[in-house]
Amino acid sequence: MTLAHLLLRQARQRPDSPAILEGAALHATHGQWAARSAGLASRLREAGLQPGDRVLLFARNHPRYLEVLWGLWWAGLVAVPVNAKLHPREVEWIAANCGARWTFVTSDVAPEPLARIERQIDLESDEAAALLAPVPDPFAVPLAERDLGDTAWLFYTSGTTGRPKGVMLTHRNLMTMGLGYHVDVDPVAQGDAIVYAAPISHGAGIYAIPHLMAGARHVVPASGGVDPAELFALGRAIGPLSLFAAPTIVGRLVDEAEQQALSPADCAQSFKTIVYGGAPMYVADIQRALRVMGPRFVQIYGQGETPMVGTVLSRADLANSAHPRYLARIASIGVAQTPVRVRVTDAEGRDLPLGEIGEIVVKGDSVMAGYWANPEATAVAVKDGWLFTGDMGALDADGYLTLKDRSKDLIISGGSNIYPREVEETLLHAPGVAEVAVVGEPDAEWGENVVAFVVLQAGADVTEAALDAHCLAEIARFKRPKRYIFVSALPKNNYGKVLKTELRARLTST
Ligand code: AMP
Repeated sequence: MTLAHLLLRQARQRPDSPAILEGAALHATHGQWAARSAGLASRLREAGLQPGDRVLLFARNHPRYLEVLWGLWWAGLVAVPVNAKLHPREVEWIAANCGARWTFVTSDVAPEPLARIERQIDLESDEAAALLAPVPDPFAVPLAERDLGDTAWLFYTSGTTGRPKGVMLTHRNLMTMGLGYHVDVDPVAQGDAIVYAAPISHGAGIYAIPHLMAGARHVVPASGGVDPAELFALGRAIGPLSLFAAPTIVGRLVDEAEQQALSPADCAQSFKTIVYGGAPMYVADIQRALRVMGPRFVQIYGQGETPMVGTVLSRADLANSAHPRYLARIASIGVAQTPVRVRVTDAEGRDLPLGEIGEIVVKGDSVMAGYWANPEATAVAVKDGWLFTGDMGALDADGYLTLKDRSKDLIISGGSNIYPREVEETLLHAPGVAEVAVVGEPDAEWGENVVAFVVLQAGADVTEAALDAHCLAEIARFKRPKRYIFVSALPKNNYGKVLKTELRARLTST
């Protein structure tokens, strides 16, 4: 049993039902999707790709993205969907780390050939069309024999060590996530539609699985991204949409509803369920969202290492404003999802009393198999099956978890994780830079902005523009500092560690 069976099952039961849409236009029925993915699987096999081989996806959202994912699983391959905003150099590092053989791209994201890749296919090319050409009988193309414990999705997450780590997500992890979605987050019916406004390479794409389980429709907006007016119109045209959105995107949808003077009933025509997570949602923001758009929100907390499965703050909790602890609840990230246990522990993994802040640990079938080729990091992250999330939180007597702080230094800007160490390492390579410390600065629109404190080498004359150009050449645009502050020394403790809390305090006091 693998994720590929989910497609086979739908193709048997409802071959003619719409499955993938581009905007409002039909791209594939379940039968066509299976015929194309099966076609791709057989051609990948003919080309010599073996079960367990890695294939990278470095592309913007595209209807063929889903056909490729399921084609890879049909052939027993490991999909490596990477963030389309990464710098090609970062993607090449990932490709080398996991030994990826082929890559599917879109030319806007990857205009040049990537190094160390055997074959790079543009999703919009004739070559891709030929690889995805439907076979007459998809059921005649055998599904690769894979185990539920085999890796399906290699999810690269930046580590605090500065280099990304490949989270091995197994078919079981993702199946667990998919089944749990229907119980904890939102039951899905066949006529429902999930829209991929956020990147398919991340949580939004992972939610394709529960929607395929229910035979729902998968919609890639014509713009390929987040255009609030387009999403409202699309929902009105094809029926209410469900989506996963970072809090920043939720804010933009609410702005749009206000601008169009829509009532919650109007919003219900466009949106069934909006699942938010990935970054903090402030109480005033979710209250405004509920007021403007109605009770169609659910919050989840998870991380790449336990994808989309951690806690959930349900639609009912968010609507229950008469509850005596309502404000505390909507400020929380909810209760443990059904497939996992969640605890708050001290550094030794011992339970802390209710209300005390400690590290959030999670155990269950959604927890990753480990980091790719990195047993040391795996041993630190998972102990006795418990995933140490690096997030800090506190539990209340009813099981509601409040996130107090993320793993201290992580910066989340517009829903994207930025690891300061990676930016610091890049800046340390810039000529004239002696020392650097990168921290997040609160920002009303993006959540946080990246700020770099820089100490120059004696006599060096380095401009902000030069550092910006250096970052542009080395790392993804969204990770670049928005602001540089030149200082003569960094504050440090007795062990020589930079005191980032002090730097953050300087930012808020200026
Ligand atoms: P990623 O591995 O990219 O999915 O990022 C996971 C991290 O995002 C978590 O470890 C948290 O620090 C943060 N995060 C996830 N969900 C939430 C949430 N609902 N509220 C606040 N932060 C969150």
